[in-house]
Amino acid sequence: MAKTIAVANQKGGVGKTTTAVNLAAVFGSMDEKVLLVDADPQGNATSGLGVDKRQCPVTVYEVMIGGEAASKAICHTQYKNLDLLAASIDMAGGEIEMASMERREDRLKIPLQEVKDNYDYIIIDCPPSLGLITTNSLNASDSILIPIQCEFYALEGLSQLINTVRRVKRQYNSMLELEGVLLTMYDGRLNLTQQVVTEVKKFFPRKVYSTVIPRAVRLSEAPGFGQPVEYYDHYSKGARAYRELAREILKKKG
Ligand code: ADP
Ligand code: MG
Repeated sequence: MAKTIAVANQKGGVGKTTTAVNLAAVFGSMDEKVLLVDADPQGNATSGLGVDKRQCPVTVYEVMIGGEAASKAICHTQYKNLDLLAASIDMAGGEIEMASMERREDRLKIPLQEVKDNYDYIIIDCPPSLGLITTNSLNASDSILIPIQCEFYALEGLSQLINTVRRVKRQYNSMLELEGVLLTMYDGRLNLTQQVVTEVKKFFPRKVYSTVIPRAVRLSEAPGFGQPVEYYDHYSKGARAYRELAREILKKKG
């Protein structure tokens, strides 16, 4: 049965989508069967995999709002062992539609249960907010992976994120764990980066991955070609970093 990991942080631009897409692709290349769920209405993970809306007409919107089966919505990608539950811009309004629904926190958890046996990992790319899509994602997950960008104010907003995790744990999903904290856009030459690393480690003792994701131009180019960096430039430092992260996570799972 799949382990489900939500990649979440309500701040935008911290590397959630980059991490979700690239970790999913690397797991796939390592013979793990993976489903990537693009829960962000912006759909950056969907386009980052080069998936066209027409190829994948049934989306996370029909599943979460329309009650469609996940198996009807999932599409295969051109990448090894990697399936996608595509995003839809309709989900932007979907959050409001969900608000008045019964069991509105279970709209993703229940459909994913039906497909969990088909995968080793389900990775959910969350939107940059702490609204209902993110709470649904956390409720559907075994753990949360938090990317943190090495910049000023890196810790800003983290207490709200942690409070949301606690609330979901208390009300809906007592099994939810902190998978780990990932430092992204790391530049070891900068004093600022070192300061952020120290602060983040103080905030999350023993939960920060020893793998860090460097600031790397290949990582920002790859989505423009609809490719995970694993396939776009296998030997680049970005690709190596995400392979190292995948190994670190696999090792922990045991
Ligand atoms: P989020 O999903 O949290 O909003 P993204 O993953 O979309 O963040 O990243 C924000 C921007 O930064 C994107 O343009 C992405 O290509 C770029 N980016 C992300 N990680 C890196 C990195 N390690 N090095 C360079 N650019 C990166
Ligand atoms: Mg994103």
